[in-house]
Amino acid sequence: MDLDSLISSLLPSWTSVAMLLSFFTYLGISGSILPGRIIPGVTLSDGTRLHYRCNGMLLLLLLVLSLGAAAGIDLVSPSAIADRGLELLSTTFIFSVFVTLILYLTGRQSRNQSSSLKPHVTGNLINDWWFGIQLNPQFIGMDLKFFFVRAGMMGWLLINLSVLAKCIQEGILSRSMIFYQLFCFLYILDYFFHEEYMTSTWDIIAERLGFMLVFGDLVWIPFTFSIQGWWLLSNRVDLTMAAVIANCLVFLIGYCVFRGANKQKHDFKKNSKALIWGRPPKVIGGKLLASGYWGIARHCNYLGDLLVALSFSLPCGLSSPVPYFYPIYLLILLIWRERRDEARCAEKYKEIWAEYRKLVPWRILPYVY
Ligand code: NDP
Repeated sequence: MDLDSLISSLLPSWTSVAMLLSFFTYLGISGSILPGRIIPGVTLSDGTRLHYRCNGMLLLLLLVLSLGAAAGIDLVSPSAIADRGLELLSTTFIFSVFVTLILYLTGRQSRNQSSSLKPHVTGNLINDWWFGIQLNPQFIGMDLKFFFVRAGMMGWLLINLSVLAKCIQEGILSRSMIFYQLFCFLYILDYFFHEEYMTSTWDIIAERLGFMLVFGDLVWIPFTFSIQGWWLLSNRVDLTMAAVIANCLVFLIGYCVFRGANKQKHDFKKNSKALIWGRPPKVIGGKLLASGYWGIARHCNYLGDLLVALSFSLPCGLSSPVPYFYPIYLLILLIWRERRDEARCAEKYKEIWAEYRKLVPWRILPYVY
């Protein structure tokens, strides 16, 4: 693609604006009216708790079914998103800047609020813009962080499905594309099945909502996590059966570790006597779980996630580094995040954390890191 056509593909059109706004409107309205379990979030420093309506799976199924039905009667083209990938990317980017600006202005205005939701203004424009001012900004009763990550995960699936449709239309569906699609589909479905686990993650409990998170959720997740799909549209890979089996194993092992570790912590937080691998948990200072995956490494969940990320790229073979962008990025992100989480936990749990570190010396990968 030459520079002129790249620039013209990036220019937002009214169609891409309409597609994006329809998506957010659908998520906003159906997210607040469709039934779903109401999950209390973690207790904030003033003793209050936010509540989250976990109906993402229902929203996703209804959206995919309605888009499928609309495509069936030629109302929309199944490859519309893939055809307009670049302009949707720039439209979403502009939207993220706009949303961050509103968050920044409202955050500064409400700095006198007296509660744990009190905005944190450093006075450094770049810092406040990038990391955000407010911890849990709400909009018509919805937590915006929860809303944006949901939009990002759904957007990722919609992009993938549209890329798949384009592949089928062009008669270039390959085994690689099928496995890439299958692994991502299972991972995204799993996310929505366990959506309530999101309410206790670092992003929700510790990160303020600034450009970093808005851009990360709305642009980064859907558009860069799908790079392998875009790449497979114009590159053919012939996978051997041995490669397919190895790839499936990486996905399955990664998934079990990722989901198992997150589930153990979630169950432990709800009930500190919940059995871990069929045995009573080993607990440090009544607060930290030190058995199961949490007795192997202090962030086994990151290890599982990294293996899953790798399994999304392996279907693309080893001829190019481009499809490996996501696992490499995730490796850097999770190493950085683990360091920040470690500092937070050391500060919060003090000597209990030191004891945990002694008992479980590995950060992510036993005997390596
Ligand atoms: P964690 O779910 O690991 O949460 C860390 C928190 O858990 C700590 O701050 C502490 O919080 C608590 N904790 C840590 N160790 C223990 C223990 N031994 N016992 C009890 N509680 C403990 O981190 P994240 O929120 O970062 O990640 C959640 C998932 O999301 C991970 O699987 C990660 O891989 C995934 N993720 C994926 C990303 C992607 O781009 N694909 C990006 C980021 C995350 P507390 O104060 O509550 O005790």
